Amino acid sequence: RAKESGRGAFCFYEPVMDEKIERTRALTSDLHGAIARGELWLAFQPIFDLATHRILSCETLLRWDSPCHGSVSPAEFIPIAEQSGLIVEIGAWVLREACRHARDWPDTVRVAVNLSPIQLLSPGLAKVLKDALDATGLAPGRLDLEVTESVLLDDIDASLAALSAINRMAVGTTLDDFGTGYSSLGYLTKFPFQTLKIDRSFITALDDNPASMAIIQTVVDLAATLGMQTVAEGIETQTQLTQLRRTRCTAVQGFLLARPMSASQVANLLADETPRMRALS
Ligand code: C2E
Ligand code: MG
Ligand code: MG
Ligand code: MG
Repeated sequence: RAKESGRGAFCFYEPVMDEKIERTRALTSDLHGAIARGELWLAFQPIFDLATHRILSCETLLRWDSPCHGSVSPAEFIPIAEQSGLIVEIGAWVLREACRHARDWPDTVRVAVNLSPIQLLSPGLAKVLKDALDATGLAPGRLDLEVTESVLLDDIDASLAALSAINRMAVGTTLDDFGTGYSSLGYLTKFPFQTLKIDRSFITALDDNPASMAIIQTVVDLAATLGMQTVAEGIETQTQLTQLRRTRCTAVQGFLLARPMSASQVANLLADETPRMRALS
């Protein structure tokens, strides 16, 4: 291929790489205006209190149905939105829409929104947050923002300042995907999180690695000592759920209990007492 191009050694790309770059380019350009065209929508996945079996919160998961590319995974388009700077506009839209939906839920139910590193460290975050809360009337105490640990290490002081500012507004903070990054347990004491979300990989590992139970137990106990709640994410089997019950973590989330669902589905679920009890009994 290098020879055909006539550029000799300067052409390094494999065809498969060209395709990836081409797709990124196409997705970037189509993501512009996706909000205006109504292609983005929010899914919500319930988080269940392990003690009461009730829905404690619902996590907002962004969806993109593109007429050109079909349904694109957030794992693919969020990084693209970050690289192109679009995440600021999209993130603000997600926050406002999530608050708007949550305002109509029972007021015992919180809403969690994932925040990209760029959003957390952007100077406009406080205003975006305030605008979303003011425009919708959602009580700030019902909102939680989930951030992954990777971002915190990039700029510890700025992350700390941003998290404190969020907490001063009475909005909750959750450390997402805990255990996948480079942070140590001791590092947890540095940041003012109210909730710690144990990454799905530890839950999956319960199936064939007994040490995983010890790791989860240690994290749950340490979090409790530090006054933090714990959520176990990605529970897919009854066996995993049984083991997690023994750790006495605060809450559980996963396909076994409830899949991400549309806003109207979650509103129906929350209007009916029975399903949330059945899921865990
Ligand atoms: P996350 O915040 O860790 O979200 C959990 C992901 O795991 C979601 O994937 C969810 O659908 C999936 N999941 C939940 N339960 C299970 C389970 O039992 N088994 C398995 N295999 N998966 C489960 P999703 O929706 O594809 O989102 C992927 C990631 O994209 C999220 O990871 C989050 O980091 C990011 N993301 C999603 N929405 C947003 C958003 O609005 N803003 C930002 N910045 N990031 C978002
Ligand atoms: Mg999350
Ligand atoms: Mg997570
Ligand atoms: Mg994750």
